[in-house]
Amino acid sequence: MAKIKKVRFKLNTFEYIKPFHIANNIAYDTKNIEVIIELENGIQGFGEASPSFRVNGERIEALMALEEVVEEMIMEMDVREYRRIFEKIDSLKSASSIKAAVQYAVLDAFGEEVGVPVYQILGGAKKEIETDYTISIGSIEERVKDVREILARGHRIIKIKVGENLEEDIQGMIAIHEVSKGCKYIVDANTGYTPKQAIKFVKEVYRAGIDISVFEQPVDMNDIEGLKYVRWKSPFPVAADESARTKYDVFRLIKEEAVDYINIKLMKSGISDALAIVEMARTANLRLIIGCMGESSLGINQSVHFALGTGAFDFHDLDSLLMLKEEKFRGKYKVEGPVYKV
Ligand SMILES: [Mg+2]
Repeated sequence: MAKIKKVRFKLNTFEYIKPFHIANNIAYDTKNIEVIIELENGIQGFGEASPSFRVNGERIEALMALEEVVEEMIMEMDVREYRRIFEKIDSLKSASSIKAAVQYAVLDAFGEEVGVPVYQILGGAKKEIETDYTISIGSIEERVKDVREILARGHRIIKIKVGENLEEDIQGMIAIHEVSKGCKYIVDANTGYTPKQAIKFVKEVYRAGIDISVFEQPVDMNDIEGLKYVRWKSPFPVAADESARTKYDVFRLIKEEAVDYINIKLMKSGISDALAIVEMARTANLRLIIGCMGESSLGINQSVHFALGTGAFDFHDLDSLLMLKEEKFRGKYKVEGPVYKV
């Protein structure tokens, strides 16, 4: 028996090494909630929630207040029967990052209990993955300087934030390409463009001879027609991120044939919906990226094990831990430059 005896939430603040600037948002630090699940035999499982008000409508104070609620929900349940616990936790509809952290902490405790790492519990499809690194919005000189720095650290997949200033974004993309030929690009507008601006961006970039692997969330999260418009007019594959939070969102995106890619983030979907989205995407022939919010090594650990276990992703955008000041690395995997491995 491996019954849950205690659930604890702990608030941790992490500062960004340099401010993280995306369309209409700059972050200087991130407040994450560590979730600790303790079993009757003393084994502990760990998870981390990195809440997002912008994407999920989550507030720290409201989430912290769920500690007792969650404990009451899953007290005395056996982590070996984790699907039962997942179903209970699925009712946390407006606290998806907590849902992710609790569900992962359950898997982590189960893994410790049986001596099997979580990536193997989830399928053991891969042993290593490579992360991209994100270039914030900034002046063209700043963007190019940041690209040179990450190239020196071995990164070959570059995520580029755009969506505030169309002309600067186009010039920035051309300038970045000049110094990073041979790299792959994921361009993310974080809902910042209108459908027509998005088309202008991709056409200009295409004309400059640049290939983009994925063009992420060009338009408003609720503008499914707009996503579809960009998808069919863009020479590059289009991804939904903010538009794809739950499995129900993804079901609709599939029915509407609105995108080529889905960006799964555990913080939007929890583990249970993320597992469902993986299977839905495979069935519908969609491609997948895995992304993150502001997770530290503890939270990124969850996505690394999910990605290794399912083996489902073309791209891994799991760079937040590389951007945060953190005293102690807490992942159950190794970091070798851009490569994460077990
Ligand atoms: Mg995104």
